[in-house]
Amino acid sequence: MINIFWCDVAHELQWLPARETFVGVAAMSALKNRIESVLEEPACGKNQAKDAKDRKKGCAKPLTPGAAAGGCAFDGAKISLQPITDVAHLVHGPIACEGNSWDSRHALSSGPMLYRTGFTTDMNELDVIYGGEKKLFRAIREIIEKHNPPAIFVYQTCVAAMIGDDIEAVCKAAREKFGKPIIPINVPGFAGSKNLGAKLAGEALLDYVIGTEEPETTTPYDIAIIAEFNVAGDLWAAKPLLDRLGIRILANISGDARYHDIACAHRAKAAMMVCSKAMINVARKLEERYGIPYFEGSFYGISDTSEALRQIAKLLVQKGAPEELLARTEALIADEEARVWQRLQPYKERLKGKRVLLFTGGVKSWSVVSALQEVGMVITGTSMRKSTAEDRERVVEIMGTDAHMFDEMPPREMYRILKDSQADIMLSGGRSQFVALKAKTPWLDINQERHVAYAGYEGLLNLVQEIDRAIYNPIWAQVRKAAPWEGSND
Ligand code: SF4
Repeated sequence: MINIFWCDVAHELQWLPARETFVGVAAMSALKNRIESVLEEPACGKNQAKDAKDRKKGCAKPLTPGAAAGGCAFDGAKISLQPITDVAHLVHGPIACEGNSWDSRHALSSGPMLYRTGFTTDMNELDVIYGGEKKLFRAIREIIEKHNPPAIFVYQTCVAAMIGDDIEAVCKAAREKFGKPIIPINVPGFAGSKNLGAKLAGEALLDYVIGTEEPETTTPYDIAIIAEFNVAGDLWAAKPLLDRLGIRILANISGDARYHDIACAHRAKAAMMVCSKAMINVARKLEERYGIPYFEGSFYGISDTSEALRQIAKLLVQKGAPEELLARTEALIADEEARVWQRLQPYKERLKGKRVLLFTGGVKSWSVVSALQEVGMVITGTSMRKSTAEDRERVVEIMGTDAHMFDEMPPREMYRILKDSQADIMLSGGRSQFVALKAKTPWLDINQERHVAYAGYEGLLNLVQEIDRAIYNPIWAQVRKAAPWEGSND
C-alpha cells in the first residue's frame, strides 16, 4: 500500500525556519562533504587503491544514456533501511521515487508490517514552485496521528533537493514538536550510485539512531550483524545456529529489525559485516566509537557459514565471553556439517559436473562459487560487476584462475553461451531470466527478488534443491522438442 499526503492547506508551521535559498545551498554543501567523507572510507580497500581523481568519481561506472541503470543513491538508502520493520519510511518527492523503490526486495518481517506501507509526499508542480517543506511536516504529523511509529525516516529525493527543501530542518522541527525520532536520510538520487546510497544511509544511522537508546539487559554474547537484509528469510536460516550457541543478535542492520534494536547496536560485543561492503563505514565506526571489533563474513555455503560462526565466537571470547564458547562452536559446526553433507549426498550425485553460469550482483560471487563447488558443480562463468578487489582475489583463489570471471556480459553473449549448451543452468537476478528462457535453459533467481532463503546450512540445502528441481524439471525436454510443424514439409 502506498499512502499519499495531499497538501491542501499551507497555513501552519509559521515556526518552521523561513524558506530561504541559502537553506538549500547549505544542505547541498553538507551532502557534498558527507559524500566526500564516505568516498574516503579507510576500511574500503577499493577506494583506498584509487587515486584522488578516481575516488572523487565514486564507485559507479558512468551510465549509458538510455540504458537501464542499477538504481540511484536514494534507492540504495531506501532498500538498506526499509527492512527496519516498525518504522514509517516517508519519501519526500514525486510519487515515482517511492513507486520505483517500494517492495523491490523480499525483506521479511517476523512482526510489525508498517515497513510494507509506502508513504510519500507525492510532490507536484505547485510544490516545486512553493516548496514542499510544509507538506512534508504535515505528512509527518499525519503518520504520527494514524500509526504512531517509534520513528519516521524521511528520505530526500532529487526534485525536493533541487528546489532546496531542507529535510534536516523539517525533521528537526518535527522532532522538537512531536518528541519522536524523525530521521532525515539526505540521499537524493543524483548523489551517486546505489552503493553510495547504502553507505549514506549507514551514516544517518550513526548520526541519529545508534547509541540513542539502551537495551534492557546485555550479555557477553551480544552481537550486531551489518548489511544483512533478511531477503527471503536469510537471517532466519542463520539465526537458529546462533541461538543454539546462546549468541544473541542484539541488532541486525537492518533485516527484520526494530528501531529500538538499531538504537542499541552500540552495546554489541562484536559485529559481523555480511557479504557486502555497502555498510563498511558502519562497521568501522562502530569499532572506532564503541570498540566493537568486526569481521567480514558470509552465511552462504557450508565452509563460509562455519567460518562465520568461528569468527563470531572468537571475537566474543576476545571481548570477555567464556572460552568454552569456542569448543561449543566447534561441536555445533561438526554436528551441522555432518548433517548437511548427509542430506546433500543424493543431490551431489545428480549435480556433479553440471555447469553453472553465475550472473549475480547482490550476493557475493565468491561465496556462491564456493557453495556450488562444494556440491561438485562446475562454474562456467561468474560476473564480478559489483565485486571488490578482495572478492576477485577470493574467486581466483577458489577457482584457481580468473579465466571465468567477467565484468559485463551483454544479453547476446549470455544467450550464446546458454544456447551452445555451455551451461546447464543460469543463476541470476530477475532481469536476465528471459535470456535463459529464450535459450530454453533452466534459470534460478539468486538475487533479492527470490522467495527462498539460501543462508546457513539449511539455506545451502535449499539452494541445491532448487537447482536440482530447475535442471531436472521435465518441462525442459518438452520445451526443447521441435514443434510439430518444424522440420516437416507435409
Ligand atoms: S531519487 Fe532521483 S534518481 Fe532516484 S528515483 Fe527519485 S528522481 Fe529518480
